[in-house]
Amino acid sequence: MRGQMMNFPLTIPSILEHAAANTPDQEIVSVEADGSRTRLNFADLALCAARAGRFMLDLGIAPGARVATLAWNTHRHLALYYAVPGIGAVCHTINPRLDPKTIVHIAAEAGDVALFFDADFLDLARALRDQVPSLRHFVLLGGADAHPVADWPDLLHFDDAVAVAPPLSAWPAVAEDQASGLCYTSGTTGNPKGVLYSHRSTVLHALVCGLPGNLNIRETDAVVPVVPMFHVNAWGLPYLCMLAGARLVLPRNRLDGASLAALFNEEGVTLSVGVPTIWLGLAEFMRASGTTLPRLERLMVGGAALSRNLIAHFEERHGIEILQGWGMTETSPVCTIGTLRPAEAALPQGEKAALKLRQGRPLYGVRLKIADGTEAPGLTPGELLVHGAWIASGYYNRDGSDFQSRWLATGDIAQIEPGNRLLLTDRAKDLIKSGGEWISSAWLEELAMQVDGVESAAAIAVPDATWGERPMLIVKTEVGAAVTDSAIVAHLSGSLAKWQVPRRIVFVDAFPLGATGKILKTELRRRHGASA
Ligand code: AMP
Repeated sequence: MRGQMMNFPLTIPSILEHAAANTPDQEIVSVEADGSRTRLNFADLALCAARAGRFMLDLGIAPGARVATLAWNTHRHLALYYAVPGIGAVCHTINPRLDPKTIVHIAAEAGDVALFFDADFLDLARALRDQVPSLRHFVLLGGADAHPVADWPDLLHFDDAVAVAPPLSAWPAVAEDQASGLCYTSGTTGNPKGVLYSHRSTVLHALVCGLPGNLNIRETDAVVPVVPMFHVNAWGLPYLCMLAGARLVLPRNRLDGASLAALFNEEGVTLSVGVPTIWLGLAEFMRASGTTLPRLERLMVGGAALSRNLIAHFEERHGIEILQGWGMTETSPVCTIGTLRPAEAALPQGEKAALKLRQGRPLYGVRLKIADGTEAPGLTPGELLVHGAWIASGYYNRDGSDFQSRWLATGDIAQIEPGNRLLLTDRAKDLIKSGGEWISSAWLEELAMQVDGVESAAAIAVPDATWGERPMLIVKTEVGAAVTDSAIVAHLSGSLAKWQVPRRIVFVDAFPLGATGKILKTELRRRHGASA
């Protein structure tokens, strides 16, 4: 027998409508390029999004069209988070830290029709204009007075366009399973893959992440998404905070310890989320300056493993609760959160810290298992598989061969401990994660082997106190070839962003090989892995 409940599509505009109706006066604080802070409220944001929606429809942006952003965490980007899916288009957030060639590749593959960009990315926008034929509209996120661009006559300016566009009186109907967002995984060899979120997956992810046992976000919270809005929808916070009626404080790209501490204290921030590298920088600033953060209640760490020293600094020294989450671009991203259960919270600090170093327990809506294992906890590590309501079932524009079953293979090696707690132990994918951003080992190796005289190359991750990991390149040259490390670095720099280029290159006479003749990276890590 079918239930008799109404069908209420779980769509992104429904979050905006709810927020504007119920908490219209809740504040959004947005840091501008000059450090000043723009203040608006949820009603203003809803109006700005409705005007931006009209402006995009008038440009001819159709349902399903991909609209790209190259932007920091600001209120303008937030308006696009709602306006683009609101008109049925797909908000394609591009990571500006990738090298320009990869960005051009991503925009072309996505078939983006419009690009909204911060003034910082003007040169990149010009490169995209010249190299991506599908891109027809370019909109600078600011006003023409502050950002005149004399040599680009048909460039549009967001602030001026939304000031004159009449607001849409209602959002067009959109089905909950329609695509709302697109984000490329930056992890694979010069060949990033797009993950296409739906309205429904985005709403469910936000709803569950906000639950009391998870992030517990309330109207009394002031939340800073330090994680960039080009990284997996800033882990859903721009949607979750408006759904929960929480104050949203957007830091742009001012993420150094001093700027964050000032923002947190001046705006009474209670919760922030980001990668460990950011929190290490904040901890260092606090130690050096003696600054405390009396209003900050909790931090969530994800994207890379939480370390014991972060727990010691924030939780044990300053009483700021620290939570770890695990997820990926393909998983919206949050799949687990490490909230302690009441009995665990009563344990001695050392035992609590040990639990917090685990990646957490799966949220409602997500299942985890170890490859070839059962969903029941067991202590044998293997590849982690996930299934759930906000997990990708394929990649954008691909044939589906990456997804063979109803489980997504994550490339992470893990075990599921008693209590259903996830513990990551290794990584099967050949990638290096530095400061929360990926560097592909295979891509580094391929580029190194393009250098005359290089016979073979292997890239490994080596631990780094600040960045988590840094790449190291190990090279074997052809007999008699005189290859210098500066020649390799120069070649790599032509195709990689600066932060992706290894600081140190080690030359060897021979590589350790496994039974099948493959380079044994485990052995390389053992031999060279102590320092970058
Ligand atoms: P991305 O797709 O860029 O969000 O990266 C996802 C990957 O980051 C995961 O597959 C893991 O390898 C890594 N990762 C994410 N969260 C954690 C965590 N809490 N601990 C360790 N690694 C993590």
